[in-house]
Amino acid sequence: MVLHQNTFRSKLNNRPPQANKPKTMDKNSDKKQILLDKRYLRMASIWAENSYCERRQVGALLVKDKMIISDGYNGTPSGFENHCEDEDQKTKAYVLHAEANAITKVAKSNNSSEEATLYVTTSPCMECSKLIIQAGITRVVYDEKYRKAEGLHILERAGIELIHLPLKS
Ligand SMILES: [Zn+2]
Repeated sequence: MVLHQNTFRSKLNNRPPQANKPKTMDKNSDKKQILLDKRYLRMASIWAENSYCERRQVGALLVKDKMIISDGYNGTPSGFENHCEDEDQKTKAYVLHAEANAITKVAKSNNSSEEATLYVTTSPCMECSKLIIQAGITRVVYDEKYRKAEGLHILERAGIELIHLPLKS
């Protein structure tokens, strides 16, 4: 029986052909990259502790050329009260997600998010995924899967490399 190579690839990793760059890394540098990815992701999860949100704390880091160029966690806009939830414990409509905060923070800086990697503790929602695509981010590494997968689907469609690295494993 001949198993086609694609049989081993999950649906989410099945990227359009133009996104498949030639593999230049050997096994050791692959391993090194996974270790680096895990460390940055752990840093993002520590960064999430800054969030005042009670329902869920999310942290994000933007890394380019082994440099952290931005960071974010979910919260209200600058100058607003810190509380994310209203009296009914519902998240306020103006709360920004960690990814949106990281991307808008880099927009204020002299750095560019073009070809950066986004590390985020929860997989991006649809709204953040649109920003990720337009910001030129090319890799997204995440820990937990958000209950709605539509964000991941749109990122996959844009040819962005998606890496699910559960920190608990
Ligand atoms: Zn979001």
